[in-house]
Order: sequence, then C-alpha cells, then structure tokens
Amino acid sequence: MKDNYGRDIYYLRLSVTEKCNYRCVYCMPEDSIPTDDISLSAEELVEIARAASVCGIRKVRVTGGEPLLRPDIIDICREIAAIPGITELCVTTNGVLLPKYAEPLKQAGVKRLNMSLDSLDPETYRKITRRGSLEEALRGVNAAIETGFDAIKLNAVLLGGVNDGEIRELLEMTRAHNVNVRFIEVMPIGDQADLGEFIPAARVLEAAPELRDIGADGVARLYKLPDGRGTVGLISPVSSHFCPTCNRIRVTSDGKLKPCLHSADEIDLRGLRGAELENAICAGILQKPQKHKLDSGEKSASQKNMNEIGG
Ligand code: SAM
Ligand code: SF4
Repeated sequence: MKDNYGRDIYYLRLSVTEKCNYRCVYCMPEDSIPTDDISLSAEELVEIARAASVCGIRKVRVTGGEPLLRPDIIDICREIAAIPGITELCVTTNGVLLPKYAEPLKQAGVKRLNMSLDSLDPETYRKITRRGSLEEALRGVNAAIETGFDAIKLNAVLLGGVNDGEIRELLEMTRAHNVNVRFIEVMPIGDQADLGEFIPAARVLEAAPELRDIGADGVARLYKLPDGRGTVGLISPVSSHFCPTCNRIRVTSDGKLKPCLHSADEIDLRGLRGAELENAICAGILQKPQKHKLDSGEKSASQKNMNEIGG
C-alpha cells in the first residue's frame, strides 16, 4: 500500500532474535548480553508476516541478530514462504551457520541470501566482528554459492582505517563469482564503538574507476567490472539518503513496528491478532515520516541497537 508520501511500501524486515554470536563494532556493544526471552514466538512472527501481507507487503527479509541461531528458523521461513501474498523471502545472516542451513533454507522457500563480509583479512575480520572467524564465514559463503540462490549479496560496512584499504580485494570477488558485493556507509545508530573516519560509498569508485554503472537496484546503485560475473553495489544511507524511494517497514525482535529505521516511533504489535494486527501495521505504514536527518549530521533518533532492529 502507499504511504502518505506516495511511496509503495511492500517490504518488511522482520527481526527474529536480538541474539548474535558476533559483536560487530558498528552494530552492538561488546558487553551486550542479548536474550531470546523477549523475542516473538514463531507463531507470532508468522502471524505478523501474514497480517503485513494484507497491508500490501510482498517481500519479507528475516534478520536479527543472527537469525540462524533460532532453532525454529527453518519452520519460520517455511511458513512465511507459504503465505499467499508473500512472493519473495530473503534472509540476512553473518553466514557462520550456512554450511548447516543453506540447503534447508532453500528447501523452505528462501530465494535470496544476504551475508555480512566486512573483510578478507582474518585479523581485520576478527577486529570488526570481535569474535568471528573469517575461515568460518568463507565456508558459509561457499555453502551459499554451492546451494545456489536466486541472488547472493555480500555486505561490507565501510570503516575508515579498518577495511577501506580492502575495497579492491572485496569487489574482486565479483570477477570469479556471480555475487553482488555491496559497500554500505556506516550509520550512526545505537550504542556503537568509535567508528573512525566516515567513508562515503563513492570511495569505491575511486578504488576501481573502471566500474561501469549499470543502474539502480532498490537502495543500491549497481556497477560491474568490465569482465565481472557479479555486480558491485553502493549503498549510501548517509551521504545521499534514499528516503524518497523508501519501500520498507521493520519489526524488531520484541515485536515493535518501526515505520522508520531512524525514528524513535514504535508501535507495539505484541498481543495483537487478526484485524487488530492488520490495522496496526497499516497505521504504521501511514505513519512513516518523509525522511530521516542523518545527512544533516544528526545521529539516529532510534533508541535501539541494530541487532534488535535487524539492520
Ligand atoms: N547478523 C546478520 C548479519 O550480520 O548479516 C543480520 C543482522 S545485521 C543487523 C543486518 C545488516 O545490518 C548487516 O548487513 C550489517 O552489516 C548491517 N548493519 C548493522 N549495523 C550497521 C550500521 N551501523 N550501519 C550500516 N549497516 C549496519
Ligand atoms: Fe551480529 Fe549481524 Fe550485528 Fe554483526 S551485524 S553483531 S553479525 S547482528
């Protein structure tokens, strides 16, 4: 359905847990002790996706925290994929558990997979994730490629003095593989570590001037190496916000609908059922603000960390 600014809102990002096996510097504090006690049940999550489909949602992304930590993740995905109005189900993951879950996710109806991969250097990868192993993450990437999804996106958040020297190496992955390597500007949100110098996504074009612009893909600008199999995406939520084309709403792991990622406004969906739930979601869509203010230097007004919201 259309919001008050004429935007077609058809995409729901559904956070199924705030728990994570990593503590990425841009996402959550190192000493955070997330819990599943407050997460919605599988039944509640599926009911929210169903009600959202009544409000015009066609695409659902299951996210977190780390969604593959939920023991019932395959059932959740299978049931959401079976909702008649939902035509596209995607999952975002840090990839570590993909060797176990890539095939079952595909069988459950997941069409597209996004994976975080901020560095190809083991030490830098560890420094960013605070506990991750690059070797395990790469096993996850390979599992996803071998399983075969309609699309595989590898997300790198740009961090000055940390991984900005690896832009070339990361995008070179698109030469051999049909993957979309996406560079994302870090957003100032929640309780983050000191993130160093802000790196605009345009820096990628300086590192690889031969990249050819091939158009837009949702919030990303897409490019290709002249002989690349895959594509390179630039996502610039800070330097050139994409609010005019925003198409999404979010539901946090504890059941709060966020009409805008960077607003403090939330609608509590927990306990709502049937028409009441549908009305609350449609009202949330109509409550979407016109734009956020990150491009004027303000920090996000969101009161939550990204692991709770789902990115
Ligand atoms: N654990 C999964 C993962 O890492 O892909 C899913 C959840 S994570 C919160 C979803 C996405 O949000 C990831 O691609 C991550 O890089 C991105 N993200 C988290 N914090 C961010 C920030 N401050 N700025 C930009 N992207 C961020
Ligand atoms: Fe976990 Fe993903 Fe956040 Fe990293 S970005 S701490 S993997 S939820």
